[in-house]
Amino acid sequence: MDFQLSEENTAIQQAVRAFAKNEIQPVIKEYELNQKFPYSILRKMGEQGYFGTCFPESVGGTELGFMNLAIICEEISKAHPALGYAFNMQAMTCPFTILNWGTSEQVNRYVPDLITAKKIGMFALTEAGGGSDAAGAMKTTAEKVGDDYVINGSKVFITFANEADYGVLFAKTDPKAGHRGISAFIIETDRPGFMAQPIEMSSLGYMTRSCEVFFEDYRIPKENLLGKEGQGFKIAMNALDYGRLTVPARLIGIAQGCLEESIAYANQRELKGQPIGNYQMIQHLIADMTVEIEAARMLLYKSAYLKDKGDTATRESSHSKYFASLTATKASRAAYEIFGGYALTDEYPIMKYMNYANMLHMGEGAPNVQRILIAEDALGIKDANRHRIPRKFALASDF
Ligand SMILES: Cc1cc2nc3c(=O)[nH]c(=O)nc-3n(C[C@H](O)[C@H](O)[C@H](O)COP(=O)(O)OP(=O)(O)OC[C@H]3O[C@@H](n4cnc5c(N)ncnc54)[C@H](O)[C@@H]3O)c2cc1C
Repeated sequence: MDFQLSEENTAIQQAVRAFAKNEIQPVIKEYELNQKFPYSILRKMGEQGYFGTCFPESVGGTELGFMNLAIICEEISKAHPALGYAFNMQAMTCPFTILNWGTSEQVNRYVPDLITAKKIGMFALTEAGGGSDAAGAMKTTAEKVGDDYVINGSKVFITFANEADYGVLFAKTDPKAGHRGISAFIIETDRPGFMAQPIEMSSLGYMTRSCEVFFEDYRIPKENLLGKEGQGFKIAMNALDYGRLTVPARLIGIAQGCLEESIAYANQRELKGQPIGNYQMIQHLIADMTVEIEAARMLLYKSAYLKDKGDTATRESSHSKYFASLTATKASRAAYEIFGGYALTDEYPIMKYMNYANMLHMGEGAPNVQRILIAEDALGIKDANRHRIPRKFALASDF
């Protein structure tokens, strides 16, 4: 076992920190204030190869692996948590799912432009009936008509949908067959019948948006089926195994940002003639944050390490996502305590970190659901339905 980052990991981490300082920090406020999608930043990240670390060179990837992806994603999310979304849409849940399940024609057609952010991606699974019960709540249908599929229905909370060119969509080809009736598709948003309506979420700002998405007699050719009919749920589970690498990395970037801001503030803010960092209760907060972030990062690195060895690391990704979400929500609360009222001002990123920590706490496997999954796994309970586990979080290998 080696607990040191390699020279390559460290060099990449330093390079991304420099990128964040030079290419993100000077311009990001303008995007926020103007509520502008940060397309040019994403393009630069794409050109740097940040999204392509887990993709073969034949499709424009850098083959640097999951550990480097986790390191890059943490640094960018610390710079601004909204940019972290891009690691799901441009690296994992959208293009990596196409890489894993697509034909070579599909991979060559969609992946190179997604991982360079020439095209924007999305992942459309959640419906209004409940994100934790993706299969049970799914009402969107895909009906085979001649050589096409005709899609009708709606999705909710779909990030980047108002900017996306391509996406991975899940819909029922056999509505009576439960989760076995779900299929996955690659969609192109410029076809008639697709509409994305941004959801008002002022807590997250409006630089990047999540949307309600509507499909009304939306047609795609049968060549856009991803995998086989009925394989959609397995594809979704597998995609989430990989999304649970970048989501914890994003949470750890947020937690680390809270810690660094808190240390700087605690050393500088004076009360009763001395820096508040001299007070023990402030020190306790800093100590807990330091250790918990390190522990969360170790769980993330374990899951990245296993993925680099070819394992989907379902269990470890779940442990990592769960603990990172507890760590980031707690760190943002601690930062709030340390900053006092100044946490609420736009001068500091504390509320932004807190809101994104809370959002990611719920996304890609809500905490109660992660707890159930981890406990069932620990107890060796195989029949997830018997214990009312939402099927979204059963192992992909169960299907
Ligand atoms: C900003 C944002 C962006 C998102 N982006 C995307 C995206 O791009 N694509 C996409 O497909 N989805 C996306 N989502 C959806 C996200 O994955 C869901 O919000 C998440 O799965 C939770 O679903 P829900 O919000 O419907 O909560 P629910 O499923 O309604 O859960 C509500 C609460 O019940 C708890 N709960 C659920 N089941 C149980 C149980 N059996 N026992 C005890 N407690 C339980 C949960 O832990 C949670 O606390 C996004 C969400 C947000 C907020």
